[in-house]
Amino acid sequence: MIAREALLLLRHATMNIADRVARLVRPEIRATRAYAVADAGGRIKLDAMESPYPLPPEIKQAWLDTLREVEVNRYPDADARALKQSLREAMAIPADMELLLGNGSDELIQVVLLAVARPGSYVLAPTPTFVMYEVITNAVGMDFVGVALTEDFGLDVVAMRTAMRRYEPLVTFIACPNNPTGNLFATDAVEELVSDAPGLVVIDEAYFAFTDSSYIDHLHRYDNLLVLRTLSKMGLAGLRLGLLAGAPAWIEELNKVRLPYNINSLTQASAQLMLKRREFIAEQVRQTRSERQRVFTALSDLAGVRVWPSETNFILFRVQSREAKDVYEGLYAAGVLVKNLDPQGGALHACLRVTIGTPVENDAFINALKEMLGA
Ligand SMILES: *Cc1c(COP(=O)(O)O)cnc(C)c1O
Repeated sequence: MIAREALLLLRHATMNIADRVARLVRPEIRATRAYAVADAGGRIKLDAMESPYPLPPEIKQAWLDTLREVEVNRYPDADARALKQSLREAMAIPADMELLLGNGSDELIQVVLLAVARPGSYVLAPTPTFVMYEVITNAVGMDFVGVALTEDFGLDVVAMRTAMRRYEPLVTFIACPNNPTGNLFATDAVEELVSDAPGLVVIDEAYFAFTDSSYIDHLHRYDNLLVLRTLSKMGLAGLRLGLLAGAPAWIEELNKVRLPYNINSLTQASAQLMLKRREFIAEQVRQTRSERQRVFTALSDLAGVRVWPSETNFILFRVQSREAKDVYEGLYAAGVLVKNLDPQGGALHACLRVTIGTPVENDAFINALKEMLGA
């Protein structure tokens, strides 16, 4: 009925385009803003958890040779069979679990929610967390419930369980490690929530490469669990490839929502090659983990800077003596782009997030911050 009224009104020839848009697009969509990506403008880019390392020259050559063979006149393999096999090997996916691939893990979040979305139903996540859970929840017409993390960014199990009883969320997202806080949640707390959840639980392991903890082997234990991963944070963000692992019964249904050729031929061929030659990725990840320790120590040594331990490729910090906006702008002026999380408010008040770069980039960041603080 509401839809019909909107359409009838659209027939008025005199209506201007802004009014037409306002009538037709759902209010919750109009109320949001498109995902904003900052323009680095040649600055050192430490805002988006990208790997700072380019492909090694010998890999690049092999890659170009591979791309030359790709038949772009043909559709890609709709099931990306060869690529899935490479991912299984590279990530030790349990043999009896199935995989669903997405154009980035963002797309897989969307697939999961599209498959379950019903008006008046809920999606739950501990917050602050990855913002796309809420954005996509709203886009598919569901309602998002965020439950605050504890003071030290741990899971508030009691509050989460209360919210689960009250809202009966169809899907609960738990990012392990969490973005933007950088920490892992206690395994027993996560397991308790998976056991208690009335619906699906998606454990998002976007940062699995930077930690030794994983829930991939827990898939057997819980039949409401799915594990989400991506190649984005380990040097291949431009390829846009995410994967969802879970029991065949789940994946079979979710696969019906996926668009047929969502993983393009270039990505399939490229990712397969990179996974075959993955020692270079492991080396870059090792370097990032060691740099993470160095940046953490440097930030910890600065008076008036609060810094949180990280199991990811970024670090959350707060400059107590300054407005986050001033710190952000000061770094920006010094040629370093980080992420200002202060506008998100709540627990992220006065917080900034810096992605771990190359040693040279990290020095530039630390020195710029030191200079600003007169240290
Ligand atoms: C970066 C990130 C993603 C999205 O990754 P893509 O695969 O690039 O879409 C998903 N979840 C978390 C927690 C992230 O930080």
